[in-house]
Amino acid sequence: AESFDEECDYLFKAVLIGDSGVGKSNLLSRFAKDEFRLDSKPTIGVEFAYRNIKVADKLIKAQIWDTAGQERFRAITSSYYRGALGALLVYDITRRATFENVKKWVRELRQFGSADMVVILVGNKSDLSHSREVNEEEGKSLAEAEGLCFMETSALENKNVQESFLQMITKIHEITS
Ligand code: GDP
Ligand code: MG
Repeated sequence: AESFDEECDYLFKAVLIGDSGVGKSNLLSRFAKDEFRLDSKPTIGVEFAYRNIKVADKLIKAQIWDTAGQERFRAITSSYYRGALGALLVYDITRRATFENVKKWVRELRQFGSADMVVILVGNKSDLSHSREVNEEEGKSLAEAEGLCFMETSALENKNVQESFLQMITKIHEITS
């Protein structure tokens, strides 16, 4: 089993961004808890969670930061982005406004984040197809226009959650190694 203190080859910082209520904290707890051990504390109320992942024979410790509700108060500062190599930019497929705000989040990323940051656009809550307000094609084409990767997820059904984090981490590894 992997433990918190295990020697790792790389430490990657990544951040979760997107409007309040889109499912960032649930995506993180799915990712951190499901197949690997969540280190010591629950994600609620903490600023980040770790997970150790093997990519191409290297052990990567991914440190994922969560906004813990600060997005409501626009209190996300440059320190949140400092040193971050990747981001999951999350919107809610059942709330069009959260998709329309993606462009604002991209601007903030470009302002505070490093230029070569790996960004995955994530349309979450794909299980709620009956109340969908943003179709998958729209997500895809926005991602293409902004030069981002794209995935729809369901934190509830644990669909594509591991895949979206792993895609980000694998791409970071490709860039940095
Ligand atoms: P955050 O503010 O972005 O961190 O969002 P949360 O993770 O706190 O989730 C906000 C609400 O959306 C909660 O009521 C969650 O239960 C719900 N939620 C999160 N992800 C999903 C999902 O994939 N499907 C559904 N149906 N609900 C979700
Ligand atoms: Mg949250």
